[in-house]
Amino acid sequence: QSRPPMERIKDILDDIPSYDLAHLPEKWEIAGDVVTVKLRPSLFQYGRRIGEAYAEVLGVSAVLADVSGVSGEFRVPDMKVLYGEPKESVKVENGISYCFDVTKVMFASGNLFERKRMEGLDCSGETVVDMFCGIGYFTLPLAKFSGARKVFACEKNPDSYGYLLKNIALNDVGDVVIPILGDNRDIPGRAFADRILMGYVQRTSEFLPKAMQMAKPGCMIHYHDTFPVGKQEEMTFSAFSDACGNRRFEIESIREVKSFAPSVSHYVADVRVF
Ligand code: SAM
Repeated sequence: QSRPPMERIKDILDDIPSYDLAHLPEKWEIAGDVVTVKLRPSLFQYGRRIGEAYAEVLGVSAVLADVSGVSGEFRVPDMKVLYGEPKESVKVENGISYCFDVTKVMFASGNLFERKRMEGLDCSGETVVDMFCGIGYFTLPLAKFSGARKVFACEKNPDSYGYLLKNIALNDVGDVVIPILGDNRDIPGRAFADRILMGYVQRTSEFLPKAMQMAKPGCMIHYHDTFPVGKQEEMTFSAFSDACGNRRFEIESIREVKSFAPSVSHYVADVRVF
């Protein structure tokens, strides 16, 4: 039992040709009782057996293959069940419980550092808007630990919104978070936000005019987007120049969140607008 899990998984599957065995996924994501792996297409023929082996060794009830990542406006995952019957799981991370169904909504493990960073911010007394809150990836750590007064958490996908409501209750942040189901461009009000989270890559700049409308002078915007590596500063500058009109802005920092594609990374820029 003390042998590494991969060795035990390979022992169970030792009748699979060694070329295929060599390409078994050596990393996985665990959310409660459910494991997801990235499986190369040639291994799908052994899908059920691979699922059983990972379930036995990792002690979970369901194993899924992440077929093609997330897609579309709602960032819906594409999962194939290898073994078991996946149901809602609860992933506990940095003192926050995230309840969700891995077959219906995404969970980006690569954003771990950013979720932790949201926890460590000092937002005492602030009004925060999370424009793309999903199941509460950033809203929950921020609401629980940063001292924010109010967090308006907006989500358009009804499945994600349903889990957001559950997670607000699970993490006991109902007095801070105001959930909003719908398109963030319909959020009413002007110049009320001290901080805005824009956790949505690739089309983020389309939503900057709305963020500008909500931003108070001095508002901090955490702006996520993907850029060719090395172009993040000039492209962030250009997006804000276009959106700010005659409002002044300052890029305080830009950090790589994770690699996105060859020579393209997901970055988060902290930009203050005046
Ligand atoms: N920040 C998250 C993380 O750390 O994993 C990722 C959130 S996910 C990429 C973006 C979410 O924005 C999705 O749940 C999607 O349904 C939602 N969304 C997309 N367009 C929206 C809009 N116009 N208004 C509100 N929510 C939107």
